[in-house]
Amino acid sequence: MSNQIKHRKLGTEPLVGLYYVSECIKCGWIGSSGELTEDDAQCLQAVGDDHCWGDTDEIGADRLLELMQSGAFDKPATLLKSEPVAVLYADGAVLTKAECGNCFEICCKVETPLYAEQHAPVAVVLPFAEKVISKLRRFEECASDNQDVDIGRHWFDVLTQLGLLNRVQRSPAYWEMTQQGEDALEVARLNTPK
Ligand SMILES: [Zn+2]
Repeated sequence: MSNQIKHRKLGTEPLVGLYYVSECIKCGWIGSSGELTEDDAQCLQAVGDDHCWGDTDEIGADRLLELMQSGAFDKPATLLKSEPVAVLYADGAVLTKAECGNCFEICCKVETPLYAEQHAPVAVVLPFAEKVISKLRRFEECASDNQDVDIGRHWFDVLTQLGLLNRVQRSPAYWEMTQQGEDALEVARLNTPK
């Protein structure tokens, strides 16, 4: 698996059912395996008039987080178009566009322009964290009612790799929430505005 690919594309399909997160070892695309060819899981990303046809690997939460943290994904197009919203002066002062008025464009050229998109990496990681918490919450709900837990096989693996669940029986498969999982839910509860 190459770490040299710098401009990765993120798949657009949500992860559902028995599909899993996959990485194309040729072009670096990351997404649901539902977007790959059905028979041999080859990459269908457009390359010119053809598809990439690269082989793909199933990846886990650890690899996904590593890629997100390395900033290897293409930024969404809307962020690329954004203009500076403020300017940072050498003495540490920050003036917004409105405060600078007519000279804002010149200020941006001679000082350091600031962009709203500089918060983007957090915004990209957050949906994943929210999804993890919602799956963990669903696990807790179902388990406390003695129902089958319907979060999908893949999510059992993700939550287990994150140390939030512990597989206590192999066949039939059976999981328990770890102390870390209970703590994560507690923190999420405390952070949820009432
Ligand atoms: Zn590919």
